[in-house]
Amino acid sequence: MARLVAPIQGRLVRDGRHLTTPYGHDLESPFWQGAEIGFLESGRAAEEAAREVLGRGLVLGVHYPIVQAHAWDWAPFWLAPDAEARRTAQRQARTAMARAAELGASYILFHYPWPALLAPVVDYEAAGWKIPPVAQAAGLWPRARLEETSERILRDLERAGKEHAIRVVLELDGPNAAFFEPEPERDLCSELFAAHPGLDLCVDTGRFGLLARQHGGDPYAYAVRWLEFTGHLHLHGASWDRGANHLPPLPEHEDDPGFVPAAAMARLVLSAHPDALVVLETDLRGCGTEVALRSMRYCASL
Ligand SMILES: [Zn+2]
Repeated sequence: MARLVAPIQGRLVRDGRHLTTPYGHDLESPFWQGAEIGFLESGRAAEEAAREVLGRGLVLGVHYPIVQAHAWDWAPFWLAPDAEARRTAQRQARTAMARAAELGASYILFHYPWPALLAPVVDYEAAGWKIPPVAQAAGLWPRARLEETSERILRDLERAGKEHAIRVVLELDGPNAAFFEPEPERDLCSELFAAHPGLDLCVDTGRFGLLARQHGGDPYAYAVRWLEFTGHLHLHGASWDRGANHLPPLPEHEDDPGFVPAAAMARLVLSAHPDALVVLETDLRGCGTEVALRSMRYCASL
């Protein structure tokens, strides 16, 4: 049985006897073994969410940022153009780690690399990416510079995780060709994770679909390639042809070539790492109680 985790953003809302998240997840559901909190509206909302989660005996995780400060506050600006801003990003990460540990979280997840490093002439928005205004030209980050800076950032994250006794998980963001080279022996991601075994990689099924589409790869093949580094899963259904993402996974998606093979990727990760947490990053608003329940049962059975 997969260890399902509820994502909690904004704040928890009391609905009769139930506590629900803005995306329609009911914290009272017996399927949950944990909750991943992040992008909360205030420090108070974060404390309340942490208390409710831990009070139910569930595992608590944090998705950076704990409290969202501005629209593009998705991750520290690790790859900012100037060194001072990059140091600020590392300080923000350490502060968040200390706070997450204080709240009782057993892990903290950051997106990496961020912000996007863009190749010329590609229409990323049309492909489905949301590109932050701080995105930079990939040309400013030749391989050696990217490798050296990333190495420093990951080394610091690994060390800080040990200091705060909290597991650090990195969810691959992008788009950035260096991390997703078609030839595995050249991809920066493998190189960095191999050098930092204290860090866990998060496979996000929808994002892997988008990355694969962007870089001419295959989402399942990416999951295979990075399986040894993986310890965490963001599971949701996505069909980039139809511009749909964060859908509740359902068995009928498995036979539909228009969908990312989310269930197959989850089975792969869970066969190698049965204890991996599976965060259901699904938007249940408008799908109806019956579909939501069918999807939860299906995900738990993966
Ligand atoms: Zn995710």
